[in-house]
Amino acid sequence: TVRVRLAPSPTGNLHIGTARTAVFNWLFARNQGGEFILRIEDTDQERSRPEFTQNILDGLTWLGLNWDKGPFFQSERLDLYRKAICKLLDAGLAYRCYCTPEELEEMRSAQKAKNQAPRYDNRHRDLTAAQRAALEAEGRSAVIRFKIDDNREIRWNDLVRGSVVWKGSDLGGDMVIARASSSNAIGQPLYNLAVVVDDIDMQITHVIRGEDHIANTAKQILLYEALGGTVPEFAHTPLILNPDGRKLSKRDGVTSISDFQNLGYTAPALANYMTLLGWTPTDSTQEIFTLEQAAKNFGFDRVNKAGAKFDWDKLDWLNGQYIHNLPVSELTDMLIPYWKEAGYDFDPQSDRLWLEQLTTLIGPSLTRLKDAVDMAAMFFPSSVSLDEEAQQQLQQEGAQTVLAAIKDKLESEPTLTADTVKDMIKAVTKETKLKKGLIMRSLRAALTGAVHGPDLVESWLLLHQRGTDLTRLQNILD
Ligand code: GLU
Repeated sequence: TVRVRLAPSPTGNLHIGTARTAVFNWLFARNQGGEFILRIEDTDQERSRPEFTQNILDGLTWLGLNWDKGPFFQSERLDLYRKAICKLLDAGLAYRCYCTPEELEEMRSAQKAKNQAPRYDNRHRDLTAAQRAALEAEGRSAVIRFKIDDNREIRWNDLVRGSVVWKGSDLGGDMVIARASSSNAIGQPLYNLAVVVDDIDMQITHVIRGEDHIANTAKQILLYEALGGTVPEFAHTPLILNPDGRKLSKRDGVTSISDFQNLGYTAPALANYMTLLGWTPTDSTQEIFTLEQAAKNFGFDRVNKAGAKFDWDKLDWLNGQYIHNLPVSELTDMLIPYWKEAGYDFDPQSDRLWLEQLTTLIGPSLTRLKDAVDMAAMFFPSSVSLDEEAQQQLQQEGAQTVLAAIKDKLESEPTLTADTVKDMIKAVTKETKLKKGLIMRSLRAALTGAVHGPDLVESWLLLHQRGTDLTRLQNILD
């Protein structure tokens, strides 16, 4: 059976790149009837935080990327890695390197001076027992390095990129697999080693991850061989680029799934969008689909090699499609938290019907749920401030007369409907002999604080239900 894994490091919130990797792993697992394993790579004690782990688990769950096994934590599996390191040491495939940071720095500047790429020159690979003892007597600590044969050619058939060849000499010399530790102990095992031990132990058949891991893959293949594991298949997915064509980074602002969530992107829209970031469905005109639908025809043959540019307009469009198709009550449930957070005055129970009407009115213009904060502001009873255009409108000749006349009528008309509103406007037009345009604009300015906005009659009816229309007219006329 196919077994894939997502292996995030909890050193930050769930990043869009990791989430997209999760999507591809999930789609492939579901397509193949395989297993999707979640493994938290928290060996870096300094940078890993439980709140980031929680954010990652929450984000995956929110997106609907359910995993079949795990989460496993590397921090609980350190013994396994140390055992593997002992095995490599015993087999002579790894060794202790006693170089000090100063010595390594010196080596690097000498290489730089000669215009050479920085690499470890394997100087402690073949120390004699006596040399080792002397270095230890100095009280030096040692890292553990895995031997890399410079003459090796490492090849694999990447499911996305095709045939990949990497030269041993391009891997920077013998690689560190455990951090420094005194004399005979083994320090903290490092990423490349831990990943391979786990992928062997968890019987991973396909490693699907970002293209930035290609050099790691070359190193890891050597470790699979050294540890006697079966080398899995690899699929390196294209990076996500910002609109300028550079790798999407923290500087681009919104990069974590919780950021997208807070802005009001819906989970199915975001999952749908991430699927399209690098993959094209068989029927490329069909752009809206659920993860389950995508899983049916997902395959690496339709994953692009080139980086995938992040397209905000496309995401907004997709999100709008999802929002506009939601039942009103569901959309209302999703908007309420935003309105609550904005501090708007309403009671989720007794104002429910009103809230749903508000949702019906503004829903079609929403692209992100958070837009509802500004769009709905004027409908809540707390006072509305008039924008500049609205203020000018209300200074026009006749504007005050209009408002006074409307207020009079409103006070003698307890229930308002679309018809009575129209009758009222007609009557005021007749009485004041003012132009209908002026009447409508003044009314809108007074009621909503702006001269543009959703349908005036609908808006008015909504305001009227909570008595807000009369209060606002009174405030302006006072
Ligand atoms: N912990 C690594 C990362 O977050 C995992 C890479 C991998 O899938 O092996 O980049």
